[in-house]
Amino acid sequence: MKDHPPPASAPSPFAALMTVTNRPDTVFMRGEGSWLWDDTGRRHLDVVQGWAVNTLGHAPPVIAEALRAQADRVLHIGPGFHNDQAVALANRLVALSGLDRCFFTNSGAEANEGAIKLARKYGRIHRDGAYEIITFTNSFHGRTLATMSASGKPGFDTLFAPQVPGFPKARLNDLASVEALVGPGTVAVMLEPIQGEAGVVEATPAFLQGLRALCDHHGLLLMFDEVQTGVGRTGDWWGHTAPGVRPDVMTLGKGLGGGVPIGALLAREAVCCFAPGDQGGTYNGNALVCAVASAVLGAVAAPGFLENVHARGQQLREGLERIGARLGSGPVRGRGLLLALDLPGAGQASHVAEVLRTRPGDGVLVNAVQPQRLRFVPALNVSGDEVALLLDALDEVLPGA
Ligand SMILES: *Cc1c(COP(=O)(O)O)cnc(C)c1O
Repeated sequence: MKDHPPPASAPSPFAALMTVTNRPDTVFMRGEGSWLWDDTGRRHLDVVQGWAVNTLGHAPPVIAEALRAQADRVLHIGPGFHNDQAVALANRLVALSGLDRCFFTNSGAEANEGAIKLARKYGRIHRDGAYEIITFTNSFHGRTLATMSASGKPGFDTLFAPQVPGFPKARLNDLASVEALVGPGTVAVMLEPIQGEAGVVEATPAFLQGLRALCDHHGLLLMFDEVQTGVGRTGDWWGHTAPGVRPDVMTLGKGLGGGVPIGALLAREAVCCFAPGDQGGTYNGNALVCAVASAVLGAVAAPGFLENVHARGQQLREGLERIGARLGSGPVRGRGLLLALDLPGAGQASHVAEVLRTRPGDGVLVNAVQPQRLRFVPALNVSGDEVALLLDALDEVLPGA
């Protein structure tokens, strides 16, 4: 077959990439901590951090060291054999979470996919074939077919129809809406302790406690998707730490790897019903990424680390509350360093994010999580000066209502 003739105008350098989202033309080359440099040398304060992934910021030395050391030893052995890094990481996560066993994945969606399969198997063994998992409107659990079906993101129900069945939707913080869906076909309830993609919407402690009691009463599994809230993001180890509600199953992703692709599914012993052959994946428990995740957990466990998340979270929250009061917009949402600010005008968020990115001087990268809402997810080791810089930039572009 002959090549196509070249197009008349210069092709976009991005034409070889499938279009799945809108991105600015900027190409980033290098990062350090809270800062990112593009191919023109321009510097940006990064408050997106790979979508709440880079727990320790860009290019942290502890991760570089873990990668180097592990690359010299062994990268990948495969799921047919144990490797020391996966064993060490599983033991560490079990000790930190109070859950009993762990299964590693390559992403958050894959961890949730595993949780769904575990719940369905549990339902088959213990609950007469029950397979329905109650999830919530506006929730986000990933982009595989099953996790899109579990998600309550508007549009996901028709985008790649038909959906995977078995995910009736309740309303967050409305226990009666959950109770109304419980029936003989129900095996679990799955939710994010703070809905991230929905715009940083917290499940109230009373609602989570109510869910725990409801699940205990009906023998259902309570499954927390902590892909975004886990590993220190909220100022505690887990998003469920502060409300004090223990799950039966928890999934992790994003911040666990600090920038390398790893997720995890954790569960209580009584729920761990996978038999050999039920679940797996070529790269699951890969030694390289497990070594990095252990380095991330070590850094988060270091004295003072979570205290910094609390302090910086408080500093950012107070600044955002001051700006929100001036703008006359809604309350600041979220906990720790997972925060969101409402803007007064409909559909303003992506415009404001663009103005921040292209302002004179250092650019500032923030996430327009919803049309009218900005999300702030800095590195968990962000400094007080960097938070102050972010607040100054927001003051500059949001001068007042
Ligand atoms: C990002 C996210 C996911 C999906 O994780 P991927 O690594 O993108 O597959 C699932 N659940 C929540 C709560 C998330 O924030």
